[in-house]
Amino acid sequence: MPINIGGWFAPTKRECPICGRDSRPAAVPIPVKNSAPRKALASLCGSCLQNIPWIANPVCRVCGRAELCEDCVRRTERFYAISRCAVRYTDEMKNWLALYKYRGNEGVETILAAMAAFAFERLRAADPQAHFPFITAVPLAPERLRERGFNQAERLAIRLAQWYGMTYQPLLLRLRHTEKQSLKTRRSRVVDMKGNFAATHRSSFSGNILVLDDVYTTGSTLDECARVLLQASEPQSERRIYGLLWARS
Ligand SMILES: [Zn+2]
Ligand SMILES: [Zn+2]
Repeated sequence: MPINIGGWFAPTKRECPICGRDSRPAAVPIPVKNSAPRKALASLCGSCLQNIPWIANPVCRVCGRAELCEDCVRRTERFYAISRCAVRYTDEMKNWLALYKYRGNEGVETILAAMAAFAFERLRAADPQAHFPFITAVPLAPERLRERGFNQAERLAIRLAQWYGMTYQPLLLRLRHTEKQSLKTRRSRVVDMKGNFAATHRSSFSGNILVLDDVYTTGSTLDECARVLLQASEPQSERRIYGLLWARS
């Protein structure tokens, strides 16, 4: 760890982990209760903190979207119980995610995880009876993982596991590369995830599983992950699969 000798003589300048500007404590409410993610969010400058488009009042009770939700209405069969997302996927949030994905900056990672913590607290509030002993992440395609060197969803899931006392387990495999989703129509995306994932092993442990992904578009990725996780569970288990998303497009 590098020693900051300057820091011994002058008060450390607090730099906002997102924009790098001086971050004085801002009078912007932080909607997360857990102290570690709260502290992370408090390290943002006022303008970055103000720019977070929290989904504080979900309209769709299934996926937690801020607007009425055609996808959830259209879906006749669903394998996950419910999911919650932290923020709307605005241009600003796209920039934040890009900043993290392409530079792998740890400070940005902590902020994104702290935002996902909001979604987790909303999920607990939406289903107060549920326990969440396990968390896993939607895996990246192997070629993507080689390119990037890390799976952002996995990193965020590991942070949440530490903060909320859950066990992180890699339970899913990605089987083949899907074409770039943006090239397809929404309708074909909804059906197209089938066959993309597999469970890493038959899970004999009991308890609900939380599946984390960075961005929720139609919910078909999450639903397919939930389907294979349920299939790999003991038939008698009353396991439920829940979704946790950093952003909702
Ligand atoms: Zn900032
Ligand atoms: Zn919905």
